[in-house]
Amino acid sequence: MESRLHEHLKKQSLYWLKGKVTDLCANEVKLFFHRKRVIADALGINFKRTESRIIEVKVSREDFRRDEVLHSSFGYHSIANYAYLLTPTGLLSLEEIPKGYGLLECDDFDNITVLKKATKNPDPILSFDFLIKRTAQTATNAVLFKELSKETKDQTGGSFSRGAKIQLISATCPHCKKRKKYLVTIDQEEVPCEGRGCLSLIPLNRARVHVITKYNKRFINQLKLLLRQLET
Ligand SMILES: [Zn+2]
Repeated sequence: MESRLHEHLKKQSLYWLKGKVTDLCANEVKLFFHRKRVIADALGINFKRTESRIIEVKVSREDFRRDEVLHSSFGYHSIANYAYLLTPTGLLSLEEIPKGYGLLECDDFDNITVLKKATKNPDPILSFDFLIKRTAQTATNAVLFKELSKETKDQTGGSFSRGAKIQLISATCPHCKKRKKYLVTIDQEEVPCEGRGCLSLIPLNRARVHVITKYNKRFINQLKLLLRQLET
């Protein structure tokens, strides 16, 4: 439950950044500094002003208390020009917000209010170019991942994959470039392309193949049983 709220607020933080004349933004940007690996919940870049903004989402007081990066002298505030905490309404009081940080609150209707402005850090320890590079890479990966997961989503949640004999795959034909779904055995080496008018065989060991889900004997038997029920 808590992580779902965290996920939700992370997304809201992107909308807020976008509204704040941000040209580029991404969630979960991996950064390295002072031999530490820090994942920024959200990072936003404004090119014209050469400004970077980082947002750290906190959905519980526990979460806020135990964040070592937040309370250290090399916290999120040292990474970017502006650093904010984003929380649900009423989680933190202004007095407990670490120096320099801004406080944003998101209500039940996803309205974000600035309760405290962030103080500008004029000289972040990570360069503007580096922040741009990491944010751009993360944003690009997010787009590609979204595309890929749309076409390869396993709707069965892997329920029948143990000891699977048959699999549902998505494969691109090297000849006509059509991407289609095929049911094949686990060790099948090629499949006839189903693109209209294309008579090519798709070599599964070389084509761009994504396994969507797998089916074992149990699945096949249940299917047979159901078919028999339909026929009687
Ligand atoms: Zn084809």
